[in-house]
Amino acid sequence: MKDRFGREINYLRISLTDRCNLRCVYCMPMNGLTFVPNKEMLTADELEKVVRAAVDAGFHKVRLTGGEPTLRQDIVEIVRRLVRIDGVDQLVMTTNGYRLPYLAQDLADAGLKRVNIHVDSLNRETLPKLMRLGTYDKAWAGIEAAEKAGLTPIKLNAVITRGYNDNAAVELARLTLKKPWQIRFIELMPFAGPTEIQLEHYVSSKEVRAWIEEKLGPLFKVDEGKLDGEARIYRLAGAEGAIGFISPVSNPYCDDCNRMRLTADGRIRMCLLFDKEINFRDTLRNGSGHQDLVNLFEQAIWAKPVGHELKNGAHPEARTMSQIGG
Ligand code: SAM
Ligand code: SF4
Repeated sequence: MKDRFGREINYLRISLTDRCNLRCVYCMPMNGLTFVPNKEMLTADELEKVVRAAVDAGFHKVRLTGGEPTLRQDIVEIVRRLVRIDGVDQLVMTTNGYRLPYLAQDLADAGLKRVNIHVDSLNRETLPKLMRLGTYDKAWAGIEAAEKAGLTPIKLNAVITRGYNDNAAVELARLTLKKPWQIRFIELMPFAGPTEIQLEHYVSSKEVRAWIEEKLGPLFKVDEGKLDGEARIYRLAGAEGAIGFISPVSNPYCDDCNRMRLTADGRIRMCLLFDKEINFRDTLRNGSGHQDLVNLFEQAIWAKPVGHELKNGAHPEARTMSQIGG
């Protein structure tokens, strides 16, 4: 279905939990967060109902995220239920990968196609400073497990955060020379929680690209610079893999936005960077039927704002990224 601005809205990103086994500096504070109680999170059954309704409202791609989606005890069951819904053409997941050594094969067997794995550095000392509670060995074991289970092509997500992992841009980009992976650099965005870090340590895609080109040579546009999802894709000469830049701050892609988010407590969020939400969970739990949910999706699509207001200094203040679902 198209929204008021003619955009086809067909991609639903579902946060399965607001909890996480890591505390990345720009995403979650170490202490003081309260989490959605289990009974307020959507169950596998409810998620299936929501996605069935989403499909009838025109969605066909679904991403599971969080928080850390693999912390859900029923993650394999959720995947199994969602892949068998007629009309879901793509079911993928964004994860920090730490639990993939135990789960990757079961997830692949249940029908998951691919994962995006978040890793902000390949350096043993740098990584835990940024991805607090994390280690390089665990991050790498997750990536290898995903590859072994065939959750490919592997995409790695990194956020360059000034003063924390500046060198990681070149280390990660170098990986694409040998590996058929896509490394995606995401610009830091401001939310509630560690807002100061998000604003003060921001590095633009342009700067990251210049660092990479200075050390590794020119980057060539892939597909004439067309967007792959939200990323613009490039390649180093002779590289097996590719490099993507996701630039919501310096080069917003709102005109091409095709997505909506479902928070772990069952709210539809029309735009990542706007606090306005519609409560689906209460509609689900007050006995409403399939068509009521479809109608609510249509209402949400119609209410989607034209774009975010970061350049005017407005950013979401109600929730952290981990609560919304990145
Ligand atoms: N825990 C999983 C992970 O880390 O991939 C899934 C959720 S996480 C919120 C999804 C992505 O959001 C990660 O790649 C992370 O780096 C990114 N992210 C978190 N906070 C961000 C922020 N303030 N600005 C930009 N990206 C952010
Ligand atoms: Fe957890 Fe992902 Fe947020 Fe890091 S970015 S704290 S791994 S939810």
